[in-house]
Amino acid sequence: MGTHSGDSVKEHAAASRRGPSAPGPALNNAAAASFDGLTHKLDYLDPAEIRRVRDAYRFADEAHLGQYRASGEPYITHPIAVAGLCAEWKLDAQAIMAALMHDAMEDCGITKAELIERFGAPTAELVDGLTKLDKLQFSTREESQAESFRKMLLAMARDVRVILIKLADRLHNMSTMGAMTPEKRLRIARETLDIYAPIAHRLGLNQTYRQLQELSFRYLRPWREKALSKAVFKARGNRRDVVERIQRDVERAFAQANLKAQVFGREKTVFSIYRKMSEKHLSFAQVNDIFGFRIVVSTLPECYLALGVLHQLYKPMPGRFKDYIAIPKANGYQSLHTTLVSPLGTAVEFQMRTEPMHAVAEKGIAAHWMYKSKNSAPSNAQEAQRLGTMWLQSLIDIQDETRDASEFLEHVKIDLFPDAVYVFTPKSKILALPKGATPVDFAYAIHSDVGDRCVAAKVNGEPVALRTELHSGDVVEIVTTAGAKPNPGWLNFVRTGRARSKIRHHLKTMELEESQDLGAKMLSQALRAEGLSMPPDDGPPSQHSVWPALLRWSGTRSREELLTDIGLGRKIASIVAKRLARLLTEHGARPDAVTLTMGRYGQDESAPAQNMVLIDGSEGLSVQLAGCCRPIPGDSILGYLGRGEGLLIHTTECSVGKRLFGRDSEGWLSVDWAEQPTRTFETGVSLLLHNGKGVLAEVATAVAAAEADITHIDMGEQAVADSAELKLLLAVRDRLHLADVIRALKRSAAVLHVERVKP
Ligand code: MN
Repeated sequence: MGTHSGDSVKEHAAASRRGPSAPGPALNNAAAASFDGLTHKLDYLDPAEIRRVRDAYRFADEAHLGQYRASGEPYITHPIAVAGLCAEWKLDAQAIMAALMHDAMEDCGITKAELIERFGAPTAELVDGLTKLDKLQFSTREESQAESFRKMLLAMARDVRVILIKLADRLHNMSTMGAMTPEKRLRIARETLDIYAPIAHRLGLNQTYRQLQELSFRYLRPWREKALSKAVFKARGNRRDVVERIQRDVERAFAQANLKAQVFGREKTVFSIYRKMSEKHLSFAQVNDIFGFRIVVSTLPECYLALGVLHQLYKPMPGRFKDYIAIPKANGYQSLHTTLVSPLGTAVEFQMRTEPMHAVAEKGIAAHWMYKSKNSAPSNAQEAQRLGTMWLQSLIDIQDETRDASEFLEHVKIDLFPDAVYVFTPKSKILALPKGATPVDFAYAIHSDVGDRCVAAKVNGEPVALRTELHSGDVVEIVTTAGAKPNPGWLNFVRTGRARSKIRHHLKTMELEESQDLGAKMLSQALRAEGLSMPPDDGPPSQHSVWPALLRWSGTRSREELLTDIGLGRKIASIVAKRLARLLTEHGARPDAVTLTMGRYGQDESAPAQNMVLIDGSEGLSVQLAGCCRPIPGDSILGYLGRGEGLLIHTTECSVGKRLFGRDSEGWLSVDWAEQPTRTFETGVSLLLHNGKGVLAEVATAVAAAEADITHIDMGEQAVADSAELKLLLAVRDRLHLADVIRALKRSAAVLHVERVKP
């Protein structure tokens, strides 16, 4: 259950939308539903941009007409509020427009094509991205899965503006959950705490991060939250004098040092106090840094000056000074931190930073848009990516000398826009795969057995080809069949090393099994030539068995290995057979009943083929048909046992084969075709054609009429002006079948000449 239609925040809204009775509170909020509330926040945009935003508002307003929020307000109040949050971050016009229309596609049946037509592709892409994110729902509690889910969201967003709008959407939904059922509130709060708050933190949006945590905490632990808020409120009253006194002292000290600085008192959030208490097993009274101060100065050197002033004023606590200016946090946060002992003996933390550092500390990546000039609104996703990268670049500049910059860039880049796809199993487990991964990679990632037996796949419930590229958010299901085998063709498209090596391993094993079968065939044939049958492999080698002696002699560890060696041509069957015959005689185990003399055997006219390895096409990789002469059943053939490469079959007329035979007559083996080959075989024919329209179709028709298949076409060079050369690979049953095909081709008017290809 990885995907659901609609975020449940919206499901709730949907439940009450288009109700028969007009809800009361909606009328009172008519003003909130208008565009005016938003306009004054948009003064950083130019008039043309504001006109386009207004256009998007009208479109959204019409789309959501008659829909209401759970609270009874008109639905449009929600997109307006989301757009308002985005405007506070000074996001560009496209992002504000997308924020206004972010729920329009899913809820109101508006298509992406419509949005492209009216508002252009970049804005439509943003809305589409938001709609896709909306369909994802996180449902497990495992921390590792939460991390994968966060990465999946980032991978799917691709454009950082989509994430920013999504965070604004979540923030507004979290602050308007009052009318929902408690179960729904709990689930959404859990998801916000596990998924969205950490994303806000990663992007450096600390204010949003704290707000999301506070709101989640309120719904997840309502009693805890109430008690702690009360305690903080009381402590605030008790310490008001202290805080005011410290503030006065500090401001006076700065004035005396002639340093212009803004001094803000600040308070830890209830959630961060709660977390500190539960992580460090402290009571509320033991958490002593509830209050602190933030000093904002004009220049970077003044941060250090301010530090000096403070350290002269109060005694610093050893080991509590941290220089996040020289070594910023991974999300770009910069400040000096120090903890001082106040006049009353309590510890108080101070943070020193400049104005831009303060903006980054509170708004993170969004601060980038605030400082960007108005005219450089991103025109498309690449541009937005580039801006995201610029933000990262500015982070690198900050810590240029402190760390390995390129490593840092890679790290943050992967975090922000992961170069991976995240997909669901049918049971909602999330798997990370490299970009371009296919269902086969997915199958091997689950288990090598699933990969080996995989025959088909479904993505989001639809059957797809096994080579289909997977996308983040896909739900992937693998169909397996007992006894299915990996296809060597998979190696052409799998992306993971795991799938690749598992497929190779399986093919290797298959090859060895096939070679072993061939070796057994060859050895028993060679034994027949000695007048023997294959000695039984009767379990553990007994004293009387000849196998241990034979294995010792051959230097192999097992019967299987010996047979494989013979099949691969590493050992000669006739030599092994002769040795075995001698061993049997030495053991006195050569029973006369099966002893046949060579002479008698040779006279046995009824079984001439017994002396040969019979080829039926089922041998797999251990038998190769030579590519020069491409033998087919009916051809007279010879087998060449190359060292370690299995058995290579040539026709007896093949010139390449003859040359090989001249060089190495030892490795040749008599082979023949089995009575009933199990498959068709490929061979080449070359054609001379009239050069004209439709000749290829005529050739194809002729071949099909003769019930053969064309497996490859090679256009030759033009022989004469009005004729063309063509080479075909045909799959035929045997020579007779090939003769039929050639006859059929000759009958075709387009064909001038046809013959089988010979080396
Ligand atoms: Mn929404």
